[in-house]
Amino acid sequence: MTNGNQKKLWHGNEAVKFASQVIEELEGINQLQVAEWIEYDNVPLLEKCAKPHKKTLLHDYIDFIYYAHYDYLLDKHFPMIVINSLIELLEFYQVDYTAIGKFEHRGCEDDDLESDEHDEAEEYARELFRFFLEKIGDLIIDDIFTILFANKIFLFEFNRQLMELVHELSKAEHFEYLKKDGVIKRCLYIPQWLKRGVFMRDKGRCQICGTDLTKLLHLDNKENYDHIIPLENGGTNDPVNFQLTCESCNKSKGDRSMTFNSLATRFWEVES
Ligand SMILES: [Zn+2]
Repeated sequence: MTNGNQKKLWHGNEAVKFASQVIEELEGINQLQVAEWIEYDNVPLLEKCAKPHKKTLLHDYIDFIYYAHYDYLLDKHFPMIVINSLIELLEFYQVDYTAIGKFEHRGCEDDDLESDEHDEAEEYARELFRFFLEKIGDLIIDDIFTILFANKIFLFEFNRQLMELVHELSKAEHFEYLKKDGVIKRCLYIPQWLKRGVFMRDKGRCQICGTDLTKLLHLDNKENYDHIIPLENGGTNDPVNFQLTCESCNKSKGDRSMTFNSLATRFWEVES
């Protein structure tokens, strides 16, 4: 049972570490950019481009990178790195993993193990990884998402790489999703959860001119939820392609302009 007072734990170190790894992957450090991900993974790309889902395309990309990281360590025979990291996380999130048994060499390094112990460790690590993903995989992915969703420079690049894939899509092949070749249909409505999330992330300010839209200071400013990369340019209706703008910036932006700022509110500069 959950209730409003339940503690929501957040493992900041794991999230920050992987957020930075996802940034590097998006930049192409291991040739796992958006195009390669879509090629290797089984992503319902068009459905997610057409309509906002809470599990966004960015969640799916993070999921892919996160899995690839631990899978690589297992393939390269570093089970102790995997075991030690995953157990720390399971304990932090208060997940009982006794069902898969304790591993007596916990805390050791890979070099410390004899070869039969190493085989045992590999088997345990794979089982632990499966258990971990099933129990808290989604939670960790969401923790990493929390950081990346606030990073506009990253989001712009992620959406730009998606845009290149959208450009390749033809209406004849995907008529239910496309308005014309390379252009996704506008989604019929923007759900309330998405508006609230974007409003919070953008701290109630127009992301183009900085105007306050919280209605604490001005009642006449109306908020808009605008595509960072416009649909006409190959943008998607995935939640990570939305930003908060004011009415006048939204109207003057036009369908083909890709305008975004990365505004910061610095903690010690908050005016009282
Ligand atoms: Zn504005």
